[in-house]
Amino acid sequence: MPYEGQQASKRGHIDIVKNEDVKRFLSDCKYLTQPGDKVAEGIAALYQSAPNCEDLPRLVVASDSSAYSEPIDKKFPSTQIGYVKTSFMAFDMGDYNGLVEPGSPFVDPYAAASLHNKARAVAFTLPGSNVRYKGMRVQDGFRRAVYEQLSDERTQIPKGGFSVKDMLYHLEQGHISIEKCPSCGAPGPHLFSKGKDESKCSGCEAAVYVTDSLRIHEQISDQGDNSAAITRFMNAIEHLQLATLLKAMSDNNLSTVSATAIIVDGPLALFGQPARYHASIQAFYNGLFARCADADLPPPVIMGLQKDGMVMDHARSLSPYLENGSFCAISDKYRAEYINGIAPLTDNFGHETYYGQDFIYKTNSGRIFDICLAYPFANKQNRKQFAEQKADSKHYEPWLARAFALVRHLEFDLYENSIVPVALAHRHASISLSPGGTLLDVLTKKHLS
Ligand SMILES: [Zn+2]
Repeated sequence: MPYEGQQASKRGHIDIVKNEDVKRFLSDCKYLTQPGDKVAEGIAALYQSAPNCEDLPRLVVASDSSAYSEPIDKKFPSTQIGYVKTSFMAFDMGDYNGLVEPGSPFVDPYAAASLHNKARAVAFTLPGSNVRYKGMRVQDGFRRAVYEQLSDERTQIPKGGFSVKDMLYHLEQGHISIEKCPSCGAPGPHLFSKGKDESKCSGCEAAVYVTDSLRIHEQISDQGDNSAAITRFMNAIEHLQLATLLKAMSDNNLSTVSATAIIVDGPLALFGQPARYHASIQAFYNGLFARCADADLPPPVIMGLQKDGMVMDHARSLSPYLENGSFCAISDKYRAEYINGIAPLTDNFGHETYYGQDFIYKTNSGRIFDICLAYPFANKQNRKQFAEQKADSKHYEPWLARAFALVRHLEFDLYENSIVPVALAHRHASISLSPGGTLLDVLTKKHLS
């Protein structure tokens, strides 16, 4: 038995099936389905040949984030500070070429270092348990810190301008309502619109902030472990910052946006309390797609890449049965039958959280990826119908070939099931102590003109 906190070895099962007790038990068992190649071959038959093109985006922005919830000393009660860092790696495709010699298994270390130097991070520091920020109650101080840091210059584009806080208004058509006081629970509503970011509870007089609509503070307790809230904040803020970047770029020049690819580490989804914003992010990106279409421009590629998880585990075991250069959209039926092995729990997977569709893609060189592409629909009205439409790859025609071309161009031996910019962003995010900068630094002047 592993010690507490120690993972059992993945090779453990080899020892189990050799065990005499287990052998005796197995002699009383029959297979539900005889294991063999048949099932995998059946699944592989659902895959189709991946479309090709040579059309690469000119600008790639990859992101990754990391969160730390550290006790600030070892004494009791536990006193915690949360630190979240989002690292962005933005580069022009021209700067990337030359990093990997075609046909060579080696990366040019100087080119990699120079690309890595382009990574920029935005960092957030939040009060956790037993910390009274500005003398407030723990939860109220947390709300205040979130409000200040999502409004200040760290996410403003340009400096003094549009921030993640302003992006929340943009996502919600200018008006945000909070039903009850986040401090005492007294009924509201508290209404917010640009220029009116704060309200006051008539019951307890606590300040209510527009950013409370993210509801992350609900997981904050005075003395408990607050790392779950810090992780939620990290997830939400990464997606909101990328949307803010695209908004800023689209205000300046739609053709720059059109030639951009966004690559998030993980699925295109917002989990937990802030999840409501996934729907307006979906609508915002579809607004951008429509604007590009009106201007006769291709839409930007907005993509999540998953290195782990159930889809990726499934993809890895299926990979030997798949042709190189093939792909399949993961429909709810596929997910239920072949990945989860149980009937769908809802009539639309990810209804409350996802704004993108998973595709399994095996590249021409035989590497396997789980790619999540932003839904090409503005909303999920009629959830049953949506569940069908979202996994129909014909709706993704403007993106598929370019997304695959991008992955093929950026895949590299060293980073199994990842691609160079995501791996570099990941490395940057996990170096703990380099100081944070601003979201504006992620882009150059050229991208904003
Ligand atoms: Zn109140």
